[in-house]
Parts: sequence; C-alpha cells; structure tokens
Amino acid sequence: MGEDKICDCEEKHQGHVCMLKCKGKFHEIEKLSRTPNVACLTCGEVANSEVHVCLPVPLFV
Ligand SMILES: [Zn+2]
Ligand SMILES: [Zn+2]
Repeated sequence: MGEDKICDCEEKHQGHVCMLKCKGKFHEIEKLSRTPNVACLTCGEVANSEVHVCLPVPLFV
C-alpha cells in the first residue's frame, strides 16, 4: 500500500495542469483553468478542458 498518486499519461502529461503545477508554471495554469469545467481525479487540479488533466471528472453534472 502507500501508493503515490501518479498518473500514467506519459507524454501527454506535459500539457496537464498537474505537471504545470509541479514545474511552477502558474501563469500557464491560470490560462488553462480560467473557466474550469473539469477536475483531475488524480491530482484535484481544475482545468478548462479534459485534455488538460489526467483523469477528467466534470465539475458540473
Ligand atoms: Zn497527466
Ligand atoms: Zn492530474
């Protein structure tokens, strides 16, 4: 047990808000999460579009 929550999106992860947060690119995150529609189930980050997170879950159902 004690598994870390690491996503397995590999290359695609470069454009994810989760990755941007790790790199401290808060300006990029701001652009990608200005009007959030999805959240990342893995990291809890929010984004405008599901393409910017690892495991998208809709914020508004
Ligand atoms: Zn990812
Ligand atoms: Zn994530």
